[in-house]
Amino acid sequence: MKIIMLGAPGAGKGTQAKKVAKKYNIPHISTGDIFRANIKEGTELGKRAKEYMDKGELVPDDITIGMLLDRIHKADCKDGFVLDGFPRTIPQAKSLSEALSKLNEKIDYAINIDVPDDSIITRMSGRRACLSCGSTYHIKYSAPKKENICDNCGSELVIRDDDKPETVKKRLDVYHKQTQPLIDYYDNENILANVDGTKDMEEVFLDIVAVLG
Ligand SMILES: [Zn+2]
Repeated sequence: MKIIMLGAPGAGKGTQAKKVAKKYNIPHISTGDIFRANIKEGTELGKRAKEYMDKGELVPDDITIGMLLDRIHKADCKDGFVLDGFPRTIPQAKSLSEALSKLNEKIDYAINIDVPDDSIITRMSGRRACLSCGSTYHIKYSAPKKENICDNCGSELVIRDDDKPETVKKRLDVYHKQTQPLIDYYDNENILANVDGTKDMEEVFLDIVAVLG
């Protein structure tokens, strides 16, 4: 069960990826985690990635895919994995397909969590964060007990720059340009499943489980 999760930033992709991983007892793999692990362990690829990151440059795809291939061939991936946040572009998707096909492997499912931009902007604008302890809230879905005050440490909550409508719109623009084409790409590979991401989290999850069986 090799799964890729697709969806706009704020569509709930990461949350669903974690739930899928738990239910099917397969690892949830994000590129951020892979980078951190490789850098911490001082692997050859990790060292190369760090050089780019230290310069503030994007890590080239071949390094990322190299790390990814290492990761998905660890023992805990024998029953599959859920990839979250990769691939993000058509060239990355093609490189991943090529690398896997050389090993006689392939992705089994690409699950697209479909949420219109308007809903994403509304959702994200309700997020609040505590900069002191890192707790996060949502004014509608997980409100703090006292308005605008962190339950955990009593600090005042803020809207992170990442969650401001103008930032969200910019990220959505990038998503539409770079990542949305992957929906057609995986549709052509006959592994795409669209799931309505506007439903509540549990319903979205049940829809995903219905796809995976
Ligand atoms: Zn706090």
